[in-house]
Parts: sequence; structure tokens; C-alpha cells
Amino acid sequence: MTMTREDMMRELELLPAWKLRTKAESIKITDKMVALETAPILVGRASIETMDWHSLQACVKDCQACDLAKTRTQTVFGVGDANADWLIVGEAPGAEEDRRGEPFVGQAGKLLDSMLASIQLKRGENVYIANVLKCRPPENRDPHGVEVQQCEPFLKRQIEMIKPKLIVALGKFAAQSLLDSEEAIGKLRGKLHSYNNVPVIVTYHPAYLLRNLADKAKAWEDLCLAKATMQNL
Ligand code: URA
Repeated sequence: MTMTREDMMRELELLPAWKLRTKAESIKITDKMVALETAPILVGRASIETMDWHSLQACVKDCQACDLAKTRTQTVFGVGDANADWLIVGEAPGAEEDRRGEPFVGQAGKLLDSMLASIQLKRGENVYIANVLKCRPPENRDPHGVEVQQCEPFLKRQIEMIKPKLIVALGKFAAQSLLDSEEAIGKLRGKLHSYNNVPVIVTYHPAYLLRNLADKAKAWEDLCLAKATMQNL
């Protein structure tokens, strides 16, 4: 029996592809296209790597790379002297930071200012303060791995442009994310580490110190180590 062209196409499972779309199907496709046009543009890591300060700020402000964009009030880029020798890195904005758009402005921020003062430093004067995450995790929960991963290129680029002489990582998340380590903070503090050839000192997060006063003495030792390290650079 000879096969018709139609039989052959059915046999090759090509036939339905040639079927004319119904009007409803056409409308569905059109809707999809509109949705695509209005979908957030995700900026690739490669382009972040070459951004200048202003473009990076704008990119962070509009970032939709993770779900934190849906719950934040605003992004928190960082604050201070963009040519500072000292870079302080925290975890993520809290409620007050999310409201004001500036890092460390709540209770933990007050303690951070005192910690800085104890080594003769002042917010904004040769000091830049930033976080690993630029958006507040809801209910101040711990950052998720995917959020840290998405946000990491922003901090990396900030560090490249600030060119700090020394980074102080506050708390487990900042330390582990900068040092790409899973070690506990107790093991990471008290030593000199490095992030892309920039020296890094790890200490406790001020929010932790507010709940664990006994560890303030260890934080003081870490700050002294940071100060001594800076003096020898
Ligand atoms: N905790 C942080 O780690 N960063 C802030 O900005 C505020 C609280």
C-alpha cells in the first residue's frame, strides 16, 4: 500500500505541528509575549563585573534577581566613603535599615558605631559599610543560599571599586560568604584571612553581641587585631 504525504507526516509525528492555530491559542501566545516583554530584566554577572559605581547603585536599586525584591521596602546599597581604607561587611538589612535605606541604623548599628569608635573610626570617615544582602529577608530570617549567591556579585564589585585595605566581616554569614567557608565563626575569628588579596578580619556580629555580652571582650581583641593589621599594611 502506498503512503500518502499525510500518512508519512503522521508517521513522523510532524502533522499536528502544521495544524492551524485556533483564535484562542493565538491569543494565549500573544499574552505570553506581553508577559515576557514586561518581565524583569535580570542583569548578568558579566555586566556587573564592569559597572561603574553609579550603574551598580542603579542596578541594585532595580534588582529583581530573587524573591526578596517582593518584600523589601527598598534596597540598601551601603554607606560611607567609597574610597575608604576600611570596609565593614554585615549580613543583611533589618527592619530599620529596610525603612531608611542605610545599613546598621538600628540597635546593632549603634553598637557598631561604638565598636568603630573604640578603634578611632567613624562611620563615613575612611570607612564604608555594606551588607552581603542588599534586601531585607522577611522577619529577619537567615539569608537563603540562593539569595547570597544572587547578591554576591554586587558586593564583589563594590569591593573592587572601593579597594579597601582591610575588610572586617561581621558575623557568620558575612565571614562565610566572603571567605567561601563553612567554618564556625569561633574558628574564623582571631586570624588574618584574605578576599581577592584584601586582608579580612572576622568578628562577631553586633546583633549577636547585644545578646551575648561576654563575647564583647573577644570582639574587642578582633578589633585590636584589625587595627594592628591596618597599621602594618
Ligand atoms: N544587621 C546587618 O547585618 N546589617 C545591617 O545593615 C543591619 C543589621
